[in-house]
Amino acid sequence: MKNVIILGSSGSIGVNTLNVIREFPDKFKVKGLTVNKNIGLLEEQINEFNPDTVVVTDEEKAQELEQKIGNKCSILKGEKGLLQLAGYDDYDILVSALVGFAGLAPTIEGIKKKKRIALANKETLVVAGEIITKLISSCGSEMIPVDSEHSAIFQCLEGEKKSEVQKLILTASGGPFRKKEKHELQKVTISEALNHPNWSMGNKITIDSATMMNKGLEVIEAKWLFNLPKEKIDVIIHPQSVIHSMVEFIDGSIKAQISLPDMKLPIQYALSYPERFSSRYVETNFPEIHQISFYEPDIDKFECLKLAYNVMESGGIAPCILNAANEIAVDKFLKGKIGFMQIPEIIKKALNEFENIQSPCLETIFEFDRKTRDFVNSIY
Ligand code: MG
Repeated sequence: MKNVIILGSSGSIGVNTLNVIREFPDKFKVKGLTVNKNIGLLEEQINEFNPDTVVVTDEEKAQELEQKIGNKCSILKGEKGLLQLAGYDDYDILVSALVGFAGLAPTIEGIKKKKRIALANKETLVVAGEIITKLISSCGSEMIPVDSEHSAIFQCLEGEKKSEVQKLILTASGGPFRKKEKHELQKVTISEALNHPNWSMGNKITIDSATMMNKGLEVIEAKWLFNLPKEKIDVIIHPQSVIHSMVEFIDGSIKAQISLPDMKLPIQYALSYPERFSSRYVETNFPEIHQISFYEPDIDKFECLKLAYNVMESGGIAPCILNAANEIAVDKFLKGKIGFMQIPEIIKKALNEFENIQSPCLETIFEFDRKTRDFVNSIY
């Protein structure tokens, strides 16, 4: 029996993790759950999964929950509560599924406690990949990717030698605007951007998919997870999202991981690894898929992807600045304050504003995350 803590249990990954756990009551026990504000859903989850501890980061909502459920389980509050929960000893797997930079600090607590990190929060590796990978090896923790592309690559690499990898090929659906011309993107609406063709996800990652920043962040995530240089990580547009990613080896042979899209698959693998558990979330029927296709990504149209490749090359504090500027820009777009094409503009301005610093410590990363947010808020 493995004890599981889910950071971000009301989000799409959190809910799907519980959908997986529900199928295997003799293999997994929910130890802890966390939400920001959604105490309605959390209460349902508490009643069904009976965790020892929950965290509500919004303090008012935490008090409200306390009044509703009494002492059914212990309730921690605020961001301190997240750190406290992830720092507990008596659990096995930390599912890191918070949105954005907020996932970094509690994930570090889990690493320090030598836990398995089932990583869905790609920002953790984007902003602090160097620190995180060193910490994982010095603490003896392990990180298993939940992101579908990285799970695919992880699975393709099982039993293979790192030295025999030619390159990783990350697939991308291309998002809702794949067929639009660049000038048409000026006027796209929030609801058009939120209408992802293949995946149902939270708002932030759905907008990131529409700008292709999501793929950019995933390239950086792949660099750290698999310890490979930029030249060995390719992106290809594959609109059907059936091939979740591929690995090419030095003899020209390519392995791919394939299934109809369903996040429960990579989540279950991150929980069950190195085993596979029997489940049938999706039945992949090739004649029904009918056709799969591939296109070169258009980095002139989707500038965010180019910016992500650039900061990966620059290294240092640049990925942190890109990530913070993107988080604020996406938030402003979702609130109707800026247009879609202002997202890359804002990121470029933020990257120009600060000098890069190589090998930043954690304090510097937190400082520049805040400075970048303040800068973007001051100009828009
Ligand atoms: Mg992904």
